[in-house]
Amino acid sequence: MILIRVRNKKTGKQPENRVFFAVLLCCAALGAYLAITGRPSDSATAVLPVAADLTHSGRAAAAPEGAAALSDAKKIAITFDDGPNADYTQTLLDGLKERNVKATFFLLGKEVVRYPEIVQQIHEGGHLIGTHSYEHVNLSNLSDTAAIEQVNKTNTAIFDITGEYPEYIRPPFGCWKCNLDYETTMIEVLWDVDPLDWKTSNSDVIAKRVTSKVQENDIILLHDASESSVKAALKIIDELQGQGYMFVTVDEILFD
Ligand SMILES: [Zn+2]
Repeated sequence: MILIRVRNKKTGKQPENRVFFAVLLCCAALGAYLAITGRPSDSATAVLPVAADLTHSGRAAAAPEGAAALSDAKKIAITFDDGPNADYTQTLLDGLKERNVKATFFLLGKEVVRYPEIVQQIHEGGHLIGTHSYEHVNLSNLSDTAAIEQVNKTNTAIFDITGEYPEYIRPPFGCWKCNLDYETTMIEVLWDVDPLDWKTSNSDVIAKRVTSKVQENDIILLHDASESSVKAALKIIDELQGQGYMFVTVDEILFD
């Protein structure tokens, strides 16, 4: 079976070149197979769903391997930036626990050192913790040395509380220089759906912006920094769980 996975960081942008080459490669492989065998086979037909499964974010999903894979729940990830927040993260964690949902939190180092007990609760809740810089700065405007310091200071602060170094980073404003992938060995995680929750205090509006456009394997961006965002998050979860979605942490979206 030929499996093509455009496996990379999720981005809010459309990596059309990757999609084009993945499809091209699939077609070429299928063509080569047919030229040799003269007929399609089970393994060759498995190529077709790969091309058909290209998500709107440009990543190719793995080809289904039998009926069991087809019946799997639709995966989705919900993520929260800018925390930990002294006023709202706890409410969010309680809501996630009630719904048996694992989320991903991209934390600010300066808030981590202020509220270590909340970071500990996020960790104990089984959520994935990533880095969002120390002071919420645009890392691409900094020298490499200064950008790496933002990342390393945050990672160390998280490690001191949880005993684990974060592997994932969501850079503030989605701005990151590619060479920092190698300098820090961190994996950049952006998003597919951004309801701009920080621009409104209406949780219904925020929830609708997400549920009206979300698709399988999407990464949703929210902030646990206001009551309306937390309310919206729980509404989104209730609605999408009702539609058969299963919430997972971003590593399961990126690498499974
Ligand atoms: Zn942020």
